[in-house]
Amino acid sequence: VDAGNDVAPETAGRDPGGRAPAPGSLRLVQALVNTRSVEQDLDLLGTVPSARRWLTSAGLVTVTPPQPGSPVVLLTGAERAALVELREALRGVLATHAGGHADPEAASRLTLALAPSRLAVRADPAGRITLASADHDPFARVVGAVAIAVAEAGAAGTWARLKSCPGHLCSWAFYDRSAAGRSVWCSMQLCGARAKMRAYRQRQDGPAD
Ligand SMILES: [Zn+2]
Repeated sequence: VDAGNDVAPETAGRDPGGRAPAPGSLRLVQALVNTRSVEQDLDLLGTVPSARRWLTSAGLVTVTPPQPGSPVVLLTGAERAALVELREALRGVLATHAGGHADPEAASRLTLALAPSRLAVRADPAGRITLASADHDPFARVVGAVAIAVAEAGAAGTWARLKSCPGHLCSWAFYDRSAAGRSVWCSMQLCGARAKMRAYRQRQDGPAD
């Protein structure tokens, strides 16, 4: 599965901060997290047919013409649920990137969600080494592609810059290209300003409820 920069998977909204997407295959992880817009209550993985459409748009499954008499099942209901769980587990870890706090629960949730992927280390004729999905099951390969993207980003040092915005009704995944890598909000003008306003009101009203 090749999901590089040339693939621009569908998302449930536009980047509120007008930020450039994450580099390389990390863009796939970002797009997966952003298949849900909390603010607009929109979920591209909400049903099996819509989740299939998204996986196809992301280049994660190839649509083969069905054989006569045998319907092609690209995704079962249980697999859709597992995909949603993987997405939310990713969002949890991306939130720790924005908050700068340790979250052992989010970490083990993501470890568990990535467990179905079996990865192999492959050498190609030119002597390069790549990670590859070692499974033939289509859904295990989907999880494998996400696991490879995460592992590559971890090695490249870009993983910690993919963050989930802690803004009220936001949690949009954005890629932090700031020099110090300390961005917290998807957009300073939107979520940053709203958070400041909430903090201000709480100070006016006394202790938070
Ligand atoms: Zn936000």
